[in-house]
Amino acid sequence: MVAQVFFLDRVPRNLNMKYFIIFTFLQMIPSTNISPHEILKNVFGYDDFRHNQQQIIGHILSGKDAVVLMPTGGGKSLCYQLPAMCLPGVTIVVSPLIALMKDQVDSLVASGVKAAFLNSTQGNYEQQNISLQLQRNELKLLYVAPERLLGSEAQFINFLKSINVSLFAIDEAHCISHWGHDFRPEYRVLGELKKQFPSLPVIALTATADDLTKNDIIDKLGLTDYKVFENSFNRPNIYYYVKPKKDYFDQLVNYLLDHKEDSGIIYCLSRVSTEKLTEELKTYGINAEAYHAGLEKNLRDERQDKFLKDDVRIMVATIAFGMGINKSNVRFVIHVDLPKNIESYYQETGRAGRDGLHSEALLYYSTGDVMKLKKFATVEGNTAQSKIMLQKLDKMATFCEIRTCRRKYLLNYFGEEATNDCNSCDVCLNKPETHDATVIAQKILSTVARINERFGMLYVVDVLWGSNSERIRAEHKQLSVFGIGKDMPKDQWKYYTKELLNAGYLLQSDDEFPVLKLTEKSRQVLYKQEKVFLSKPMEVKIAKEPQIFQQHSYDKELFNQLKQLRNMIAHEQNVPAYIIFSDSSMLDLATYLPATLNDLHKISGFGEFKIQQYGKVFLDLVLTYCREQNLPTQIHLKNSKRERKISVVKKERSTETTNISLQLYKQGKSMDEIAEERNLSIITIQNHLAYYISTGELKVEDFVSSQRREVINMMIGKLGTESLRNLKENLPPDYTYSEIKMTIASNEL
Ligand code: ADP
Ligand code: ZN
Repeated sequence: MVAQVFFLDRVPRNLNMKYFIIFTFLQMIPSTNISPHEILKNVFGYDDFRHNQQQIIGHILSGKDAVVLMPTGGGKSLCYQLPAMCLPGVTIVVSPLIALMKDQVDSLVASGVKAAFLNSTQGNYEQQNISLQLQRNELKLLYVAPERLLGSEAQFINFLKSINVSLFAIDEAHCISHWGHDFRPEYRVLGELKKQFPSLPVIALTATADDLTKNDIIDKLGLTDYKVFENSFNRPNIYYYVKPKKDYFDQLVNYLLDHKEDSGIIYCLSRVSTEKLTEELKTYGINAEAYHAGLEKNLRDERQDKFLKDDVRIMVATIAFGMGINKSNVRFVIHVDLPKNIESYYQETGRAGRDGLHSEALLYYSTGDVMKLKKFATVEGNTAQSKIMLQKLDKMATFCEIRTCRRKYLLNYFGEEATNDCNSCDVCLNKPETHDATVIAQKILSTVARINERFGMLYVVDVLWGSNSERIRAEHKQLSVFGIGKDMPKDQWKYYTKELLNAGYLLQSDDEFPVLKLTEKSRQVLYKQEKVFLSKPMEVKIAKEPQIFQQHSYDKELFNQLKQLRNMIAHEQNVPAYIIFSDSSMLDLATYLPATLNDLHKISGFGEFKIQQYGKVFLDLVLTYCREQNLPTQIHLKNSKRERKISVVKKERSTETTNISLQLYKQGKSMDEIAEERNLSIITIQNHLAYYISTGELKVEDFVSSQRREVINMMIGKLGTESLRNLKENLPPDYTYSEIKMTIASNEL
C-alpha cells in the first residue's frame, strides 16, 4: 500500500489561528510504503492499536464499508483518521456538532495532519480557501455538518464529485436513527451518499449499542457490503461508587479538595440546584461554574470553553451539559441527584476518563430521589410509556441498592455477558463481610408473617420499630413483634429487609403498592431455625490514590509541573490543554524520566511532529527536575508495548478451564495443588493465573514482591520479553520462572 503522510513544516505559533487559510505553511512529504502501524507511532505517538482498531482500519483500506460500535473514549476517531492518511484523496467526516469539529481539527493540526472543517461559522473567504485546498488535493480530512451535504441543488455533492474523495466517515451515526437517543433529521440526507458515490467506502461510528439502532443505521445508510465491528462497552478505567446521599455535602467538598488537581462534572437535576451548589462550593474556594439550558448561549459557551481549557475545574451542570464534550481528562463525574435511567447514567459517567486513565463515577443515592423521579416519570394519558419509564427508573434504583458487582449489573443491562466481578466498583472493593444475622432476619420475617404478608417494606419497618404513626393499625400495635426492633436505627432495618429481598428470603409483589411476602426459604428460617448470613451495612471507602497511578511510581511534583507547562503552552495557543498532550502523556514522562529527545519516542502521545514542536521544552523540564532531585532516568523500564507484545506469557483467554484454576486459587489452593488436582502441568496453571493478573482479577503482589518485581523489570528493560530462559539465566538463581511470568503479565495490565 502506498501511503502519504502530510506534515506542517513549521510551528504555527497560535494553533487557533486560521490554519486553513495559511496553506502556504503546508508542505507535502510524500513517503512510500508507510504502514498503518508506522503512522500510529510517528503521527499519533501510540505503540499499539486499541480494541479492534487495526482490523477496522484494514477493512476500510480494502475499500469496504464498516459500522463501528465502540464505547466513548474507545478511540473511534483513529479508525477513520488513520485510513484518511493512507488513502490518496480526502476523507469527508460528517459530524453533528460544530464545537466537536473544531476540537478534532485542532488535535489533528497539532499532530501535523492537514485537516479543516467547513461550517456556517466561517466567512466566504475562508470557505473558498478550503475549497481551493480540496481542489488541489491538499487536505487529508474535511469535517462537515450534515446540512452542508443537503445544500442548494446538491451543490456540495457535485463539488465533492469534482474532487478526489477517498472515504466518508459518519460520526455519531446513531443520529440517523429514530431509535437512537439523539435523532437528527439532517442526518437523513446521508442515505444519498451510497447512491451518489457507490464506489466509495463508508465508515459509520457510534457509541450507542442497541441492535435496533445498529440495524437502522445500516438500513438508512443503504450499506450492503459491510462489516459490523462491536466492542465491549465496558469502561475499565472508570471506577463506580454509590454512596448514601444523606449529609453528602461535606463529603463532596472533601472529595473535591482531595482531588484538587482534577477536573470533573457534577450533575444535578434542576437548574436552580446547579446554581446553588456552585455558590456553596465557591465558598470553599473550589473553582466551579454552573451550566444549564436556562443560561444565555454566550455565557454557556464561555463557561464550556473555560472548562475545556481547565480554567474552570468543575462544571456543576444539568444534563444539558456534555453532549459533544471531547475533553479527555475529565477525572470524575458525580451525580448528586439520581439519573432517570441507566442509559443516561452510563452516558454521563462515560464522559470521564476518555484518556484511559483512572477516573471515578460517584453517585449520591437516596430513595427520596426515586420518589421524586417517579412523579416525573408518570406521563399523563400515556400509561404504556409511563410504565416503561418507571421500569427504567426502577432498574436505576436497583443499581444503587445491589450488593453485587455494579459493573456486572451495568454490562448485563446492556446485554453484555459479564461473569467476573470487576474489582473496581465500591461493592467489589468493599466486599461486604457477612455476619450471622439470624435473629435480625427472624424479627423481620416474623413481622411480615404476623401482619399476614399484606404490607410494604416501610410498614413492616414501622411495626418493628414500634412507630406511633396513625398509619399503623391499632391491632398491629398489640402484636408481640411491635417495637422489638427499637435497638437498631430504622435505616438499618430497611437495609436488612432489602438484603433479605436480594437473597430471596422475601418477595415483593408487583402491585402498585408492593407488599412483602414470605418464600420457601424464609419458612426454613422461621420454622426450621435455619441460620441466615447477611452483609453489614457499611461506609463506602474511596481509593484516594488512583490505582493506575499506583502501578508505576511516578513523581507527583514533576507530574504537576509538566501539566502546568502544558497548560501554559495551551493557553498561549488558545486551545484546550489535552490538544497539546493528554494527562497520560504527562504521566508517562513523570514515570520514565526520558533523558534524550530520542527517548521521547517511547512516551505515549509523542509523535514525530509533537516531538519537533514540544519535545525540547518538555525534555528540558524533566532534565532540570531530575538534576535537582538527583533522579536517574527510568526509560529502560519502558519497553515499547510492541516489543512487549511478543511476550512469552502464552496469551490465554477467559475460558472455563482458566476460570476453574482461578476459583481453586481463590479457595486458597497453591499452584502445585491446583496442577495436581486438575491433572494439568504447573506451567498451564501458571499461564491461567498469569492471565488473571494481566486482567487485574488477581494481584501480582500475591505472587511476587514489589522488590523482586523491580529487579525482574530491570532485566526485562535490558533483555525484553522474547525469551523467558534468557531472563531466568540473567537473574539471580532464586528467581523462578513463575515470578518472571507473573511480572510480565502484570506489565500487560
Ligand atoms: P471516541 O471518539 O471513541 O470517544 P476518541 O477517538 O476521542 O474516542 O479517543 C479517545 C482517546 O484515546 C483520545 O485521546 C485518543 O487520542 C486516544 N487513543 C485512540 N487510539 C489510541 C491508541 N491506539 N493508543 C492510545 N491512545 C489512543
Ligand atoms: Zn465490581
